[in-house]
Amino acid sequence: MTAASTQEKHPTRRSRPATARRPETPDAADTAALASVQAAFEIFERQSRQLETAYRALEQDLARSNSALQERNRELTAKNQELHQVTRRLESVLESLTDGLLVIGMDGQIERCNQAAARLLERSQQEAEQARFLDLISIPDADALLTRVLRGDSPVLDHPWILRQPDGSVHNLLFSLAPVTGSDKNILGAICNLRDITEIRRLEKRLQSHERLAALGEMAASVAHEIRNPLGTIEGFARLLRRDLADMPAPLQLAERIVAGAQNLNYVITNLLTYARPMRLMTTDIPVATLFEYCRETLEDRASRANVSLTIEFPSPSMSLRCDHRQVMQALLNLGINAIEACQPSQTVHISATQRPASVILHIRDTGCGMPPDQVAKVFDPFFTTKEGGTGLGLSLTRKIIDMHGGDIAVASVPGEGTEFTIELAKKGVGE
Ligand code: ADP
Ligand code: MG
Repeated sequence: MTAASTQEKHPTRRSRPATARRPETPDAADTAALASVQAAFEIFERQSRQLETAYRALEQDLARSNSALQERNRELTAKNQELHQVTRRLESVLESLTDGLLVIGMDGQIERCNQAAARLLERSQQEAEQARFLDLISIPDADALLTRVLRGDSPVLDHPWILRQPDGSVHNLLFSLAPVTGSDKNILGAICNLRDITEIRRLEKRLQSHERLAALGEMAASVAHEIRNPLGTIEGFARLLRRDLADMPAPLQLAERIVAGAQNLNYVITNLLTYARPMRLMTTDIPVATLFEYCRETLEDRASRANVSLTIEFPSPSMSLRCDHRQVMQALLNLGINAIEACQPSQTVHISATQRPASVILHIRDTGCGMPPDQVAKVFDPFFTTKEGGTGLGLSLTRKIIDMHGGDIAVASVPGEGTEFTIELAKKGVGE
């Protein structure tokens, strides 16, 4: 049943309540009732209007706060993105550092470990971030150092730490520890920096040994220089003796040995001096045949003593080079002597030259012992020698001379068959 039909059944009960006092006349009573109903309506309408105004005001307020909220929301999202970007950037800076970095909490727990630190400590980043500082850093006084830093005392700077890895490799590290402070200066934890200086230490050691070698070289050079003059005198007198003893075979042989010994010593000393001194080129144009001629006597002497057959193919006088002829001659001698020394009696050494439009190639070929590839790889290293009493300087010096001329030196060798060294030099000299 609806409300309307209920009202139809009890019309009097609705318009005139039973308790209401009866007015003197029915008309007056109706008018009074009407007036009060009207007044009630007016009040109702006024209240409704007020309510509506209030409602509208509320609605506007709500709309305003809504848009302010949306604005705040947008700002917050932007700030959030900015924060994300900064965090990501900081993360990548942290990960790109070549130094190892550990962030440690007040409780000694690792909070952050970058890739470099994880690599040095041979752990994964996750493993390191679950460990305690003292489990990772095994220097004897790590505990005391951390306590000191977390207390706010002075930071630890470049503390040396030699880290031995399980595979036996050794890392030279510098370890630094500093407090992390908040904006109100209170300590939040510590940051540990690990710098790997293994390579620097290795270079320092090499530099020291180079310096020692250089000092030794200088001393050897000055001694060699002092020996050279008396040696020249010995060789000169031995040559005179050789001439005077021409018809006395036994003493002549002794005199020849003195000449050969003096020549040999002179060759070694020249190599040593050229190696130890800074090289300066004095270039002139010289026919290749003249260069070969300069070397001929020394090489023929050596070859005949070793019973090795030496052939020098002299090129036409038009084939010439712009070079420091003393140095290139020294290079040729070094290669020629090595070739003779690599031969057994009756094996051969052949020296020749070919040319290209802009360069000359010198060939020193022997049918001697040859070399396996691992030996070929080392022949130009200073002090590498397989000879008893060898200096191992001949080939490194030869290469230095050829490099200074802007040329190329190459070697091809077959064990048991022989070796060929080739030198290529520009006809117009260095850098032209
Ligand atoms: P050294 O002659 O004092 O040993 P070098 O620098 O002249 O020093 O030569 C280095 C090494 O290279 C030699 O000891 C030798 O083992 C090898 N070698 C050089 N030339 C030849 C060659 N023609 N045949 C075989 N081995 C050679
Ligand atoms: Mg040599």
